[in-house]
Amino acid sequence: MTSIDTPDRRLDGNALAGPLLELFTIDLSAAMATCVHCDGTAPLGEQQLYADAPALVLRCRDCTGVLLRYSADSHSTGIATVRADLSGLRLLVAHVPAAGASR
Ligand SMILES: [Zn+2]
Repeated sequence: MTSIDTPDRRLDGNALAGPLLELFTIDLSAAMATCVHCDGTAPLGEQQLYADAPALVLRCRDCTGVLLRYSADSHSTGIATVRADLSGLRLLVAHVPAAGASR
């Protein structure tokens, strides 16, 4: 049986940035994620991603609790179904350009 902490299974959370762009319009790698399990806070990109499960599973770097699960299935119609379970995140804080600000 493989332990959750096996280093060869882990990627850093930055590997989740591309898939999340299917759902969000900004790169969330630098967004501060607060864990619902332990209240630990760290950038999303510094959490631990497990990409060998049926879904992408992002776990807290402090307590290994599940922060989010994400999957996308493409259909022959050209439409994809995206599923995102964010229930392990107490809070996600991102800095974005203010409305009306020049980019
Ligand atoms: Zn945690």
